[in-house]
Amino acid sequence: MLYLRTVCGPVEVGRLALILPHEHVFTDLRPPDTPGFGQACIGDVVAVMRPHLEAARAAGVSAIIECTPLGVGRNVRALRALAEATSFPIVASAGAYREPFMPQWVREASEQALMRWLRQELCVGIDDTDIVGGLIKLACNDPMTVAEAKLLRAAGRVGAELGVAIACHTPSGRLALEELGIVAGEGFPAERFVWVHAQNEPDMGLHRELASRGCYVEFDGIAEEADLNAYIEWISALFRADLQDRVLISQDAGWYCPGEPGGGQIRPYDFLPRRFLPLLRANGFSEGDIRLLTVENVARAFGCEQRGGEGWR
Ligand SMILES: [Zn+2]
Repeated sequence: MLYLRTVCGPVEVGRLALILPHEHVFTDLRPPDTPGFGQACIGDVVAVMRPHLEAARAAGVSAIIECTPLGVGRNVRALRALAEATSFPIVASAGAYREPFMPQWVREASEQALMRWLRQELCVGIDDTDIVGGLIKLACNDPMTVAEAKLLRAAGRVGAELGVAIACHTPSGRLALEELGIVAGEGFPAERFVWVHAQNEPDMGLHRELASRGCYVEFDGIAEEADLNAYIEWISALFRADLQDRVLISQDAGWYCPGEPGGGQIRPYDFLPRRFLPLLRANGFSEGDIRLLTVENVARAFGCEQRGGEGWR
């Protein structure tokens, strides 16, 4: 049996419908020494974000994976408060963002210290809470820095040990291959690796190559202003290559920005189900294809087996 490790405990993936694999609820992209960095009144965050989750639910979304790691304002207490207020499953991210967002201590830590920290985030709790991460979210520059490679190795080791996915913000297909090589070298299975932002790689040969190696190719910028026909073309090409079980789609939407009045301009979570799925249908995708893309692939990529009480409430 597979479970999503949500901020309110495990949820059987078999009970879920559409899952959005890459969204944000609360993110702070300001320099970390900005006064109030990553801070907000949790009641305000819940009040602002609740209608967006309700709209997503009304459109058929049953869970979201929140892809904000350490370094960009991750606030798991806000995620839990929102999940509790709405009874909506939200998965939080262990891990840290790329340089220069990565905290100095992460940059300087040994690989062993990073492994201990990741185990803490995945088995005990994040930021002195009992809220565990349900995946490891990382990010790399192109070219990758020494500290990013070190964190990737630690994540590969711990991810393999605990059976959780690694999703990595990756600007190019060539870099995704390098990342996959690094985690595989630590014993991490390609089938748990998610290439985040594959829409930024124009070479569809690289989409195909990464998918054929087993990793998930995630097209996650689906939005009103995006070139949706390009998304249809990328997804169709992977279906034609019989790699349809390696494709993920999401919006990279949300999110509450602390420091902006009312959390700033929130991008809705319901564009994909309301506008993009009908476009897929109009382009010949069956209900079974859509279920594969939005339910089965996501559940397989992020579902975890329940092991010996680790990290479960
Ligand atoms: Zn994102």
